[in-house]
Amino acid sequence: MKTEILPDLQESAFLTDTREENPYQDIFHEGSTEEYSEAIESAKQVVRNFLENNKKPFSGISPAALGSIFAEVDFDTPLPDYKSLFEEVETLYVKHATAFHLPRYIAHLNCPVVIPALAAEVLISAINSSQDTYDQSAGGTLMERKLIDWTGREIGFGPDCDGVFTGGGSQSNLMGLLLARDYYAMKYLKHNIKLNGNPPEASRFRIFVSEKAHFSNQKNSSLLGLGEQSVIKIKTDSRFRMDSELLEQAIIRELELGNIPIAVVATAGTTDFGNLDPLAEIALLTKKYQLWYHVDAAYGCGLLLTTKYRYLLDGIADADSVTIDYHKSFFQPISSSAFLVREKHQLGLIKHHADYLNPKEQDYDELPAQINKSITQSTRRFDALKLWFTLRLLGKQKLGEYTESIIDTAADTAKIIDKDPHFELLSDSDLGVLVFRYINPGQTSYDPCELNQYIKKSLFNSGEVLVASTKVNGAFYLKFTLLNPITNLNDIQNILNIIKKHGTDYLSLN
Ligand SMILES: *Cc1c(COP(=O)(O)O)cnc(C)c1O
Repeated sequence: MKTEILPDLQESAFLTDTREENPYQDIFHEGSTEEYSEAIESAKQVVRNFLENNKKPFSGISPAALGSIFAEVDFDTPLPDYKSLFEEVETLYVKHATAFHLPRYIAHLNCPVVIPALAAEVLISAINSSQDTYDQSAGGTLMERKLIDWTGREIGFGPDCDGVFTGGGSQSNLMGLLLARDYYAMKYLKHNIKLNGNPPEASRFRIFVSEKAHFSNQKNSSLLGLGEQSVIKIKTDSRFRMDSELLEQAIIRELELGNIPIAVVATAGTTDFGNLDPLAEIALLTKKYQLWYHVDAAYGCGLLLTTKYRYLLDGIADADSVTIDYHKSFFQPISSSAFLVREKHQLGLIKHHADYLNPKEQDYDELPAQINKSITQSTRRFDALKLWFTLRLLGKQKLGEYTESIIDTAADTAKIIDKDPHFELLSDSDLGVLVFRYINPGQTSYDPCELNQYIKKSLFNSGEVLVASTKVNGAFYLKFTLLNPITNLNDIQNILNIIKKHGTDYLSLN
């Protein structure tokens, strides 16, 4: 008997080892480690090519030109091997990918990323834990909790804080407003919105933000059924920060109108100017009027780790909830964000028990489940591992030093721009955003908006430098966002010279 079965067994064992005849080589498992290593090695080579070949932040390719290459791609005809696949992806994507790590990229809030976080990404996607329950991610659940606790301590929260990693700042801000809304209704109207939907009073709920707060606040208010009308925008001071006196006046005015103030969202680092609202003053007002206090520190969270500039966040510890974007200011790859609350019981407002995942009778101290704290994601990536790798290997001090050096470079840049008669700077920055425009002093026969639009477009089309833009009181301005500690004043001076060159070109043409 034995001798008859053995040859068969050996043959089938051999068969599972041959690529052509094993149909499962493409599935990540113990029988496909070779294929896995080869694929990852090739991917690494493409990443190296990206670093070595992309010397400009952008290729400058137009959507029409790029789109025409896409027309040739046919999903019904798969490619023969990884080599052809990577070639295709290099042509369609990598060659034209925006290179955030280059000093000449100073457009949006995209930081360069640290290497340990990239190593973590390899584990995250391959092991593919899902952060909803302990049985889908045991160590991952505890690691996320520990990172949330750590972040809470950096904010200045006590041991009762809690939170969850989210997909981004917009989502974290949504959680803040959701809790503000549900908490108000529960406490003051004895109305459970989670079960019964918005009460009639909800059309009079009011949320206060600054004029320069992130647009996600309006989107989130409409999602929550309060409408954009519920968002009251408070005018800003000369540095584009919320004016707390005007905030109090607005709260009083809304009360007089019979409306119901429920929350204030303070911005710790505006997207357009990188300045922080007066957090401590706003904290006092939210106490006085018993409002939910949410701090949107999506951008300014990097200050948590600095010694020199930590004081700018004074008052954040009084927040009921906080938005943190590690992918903006902790040098983390997208996505890496968190939502935190000062009092963990507040998260009970959103808890939903699904019998198959987190049944009601379960003891969550014994078997923790991050899903209890997540509103818009059940299956969720283990993004927290990237921050774990980063903190364990680099330490928070290193990250803080990077942030400090960025802020110092931005301050010096502000001085250079301000002193130059060819530039008009709107404000200095607590962080690293500078809004300014090119002008030609003594000449009035040109439209400064058109001139600066021309400059931005020329830079984009050539891809040599990427800057952003914004509008202030209807006028068009260029915008620098400094988030790269590698960028130095020499880079800045070069960029400014290139801007000037395009400016002179425009003036000589018009
Ligand atoms: C970027 C930003 C957000 C949104 O965060 P995402 O991660 O892009 O969703 C919210 N608030 C501020 C102040 C931001 O700068």
